[in-house]
Amino acid sequence: MSVQLGVDLGGTGTRVVAIDRNTSVLNEETAATPAAGSPAQVVAFLRELVDTAAGSQVIGSLGIGASGPIDNAGVIQNPATLPAFTGVDVAKELSALYGIPVPIENDAVAACIGEAAVGAARGYSGVLMVTLGTGVGVSMLRSGEPVRGADGQHPEAGHLSIADVDAPCYCGRSACWEIAASRSGLQSLVEGLQGSNGPKITVEALLAIGRDASAGEPEARTVFDAYGKRVAAGLADLLTIYHPEIVVLGGSAAQLFDAFSPSLFASLQGIVDCFPSPVIVPSTLGDLGGAIGAAVLGRSTR
Ligand SMILES: [Zn+2]
Repeated sequence: MSVQLGVDLGGTGTRVVAIDRNTSVLNEETAATPAAGSPAQVVAFLRELVDTAAGSQVIGSLGIGASGPIDNAGVIQNPATLPAFTGVDVAKELSALYGIPVPIENDAVAACIGEAAVGAARGYSGVLMVTLGTGVGVSMLRSGEPVRGADGQHPEAGHLSIADVDAPCYCGRSACWEIAASRSGLQSLVEGLQGSNGPKITVEALLAIGRDASAGEPEARTVFDAYGKRVAAGLADLLTIYHPEIVVLGGSAAQLFDAFSPSLFASLQGIVDCFPSPVIVPSTLGDLGGAIGAAVLGRSTR
């Protein structure tokens, strides 16, 4: 039996899944992503993970989703997050090693492909995915094909400017959506409300506050009502441009969907006639979406 492999190459960790023809996950391997190393070493790192995930099965196809920009030649150009991989043509190297085509995509696009194939967006053709994690990632599929700019890049919509936040962003602007609406932005929001002497808010603590908000606890509700408005602020701009059928919210903050979605929906309902009302749902594949999407991408290339 042959299996299809998908690699999700992130700045912190790398995940590889092996799926079968029904897109069921048969095996999963994870490892810390090396921040340094020669081109040969980073290719060997990926090869070892892929071989381990495949086990004794024949590798029928392989696809990669990677953090940050991928240039038109399929080479990672992300010195901030993937310094050791930047400029290395890992897709070409792995293709030569395994003797099969190895497509590569940005990780936001790969996650969207996964959700469209077997996740929350199955059966929809106009899919917008927004990942609320360390930053805000955005990708859009139309009839299964990623929407791209003239340079081949997916939308970098985390740097849309929104009105109700005024904090500096690393991109040089000062009111970026991802500063407000990322999970990191939510953590900062909670920390700010606690005052300067409050503790740092972990993701686990955030999930607990989200449960309180869902249960109606007033202070927690205040936080998540504000966060829902922040998510809506940038999402409304994307809806006016792309008119998707469905929006899938991914990333760790999407686990808090029940807590912030009432405010998100209320905010969007206040904006009329600019866009239709798409279905808005949390991701169902969670952290596995990028790797599953990469595997689906690889399979479709065979
Ligand atoms: Zn920015």
